Amino acid sequence: MQNKIIITLKIEIKHEEICCAICNQPILKKQKVSIDHWIPKKLGGQDELSNLRPAHKICNSIKADMSPETFMEHKKELYKIALEKWHLNFEDKTIVSNALHAMTHKKRR
Ligand SMILES: [Zn+2]
Repeated sequence: MQNKIIITLKIEIKHEEICCAICNQPILKKQKVSIDHWIPKKLGGQDELSNLRPAHKICNSIKADMSPETFMEHKKELYKIALEKWHLNFEDKTIVSNALHAMTHKKRR
């Protein structure tokens, strides 16, 4: 069940150019968007605007119920695993490999 705040966010996202809070890459209109609980509900995160961020659906799946700290620490490995071991469709594969490329690029600078 989704509450009002999440539905409202989803509608707003459709009309704006936005970036994924998880991989920091733009979310294109054709890509599946989801609302990430930055602090997962399992860890006490709330349905509050400050805790809700737009994210690619696939990125949200990769982050899953991890705490932001754990996720950030292992982000690159997690994306690598997703790219190598998950059965991704073409669209998701593109998102994950672009994100991974951006992370690698950032590290070199
Ligand atoms: Zn993303």
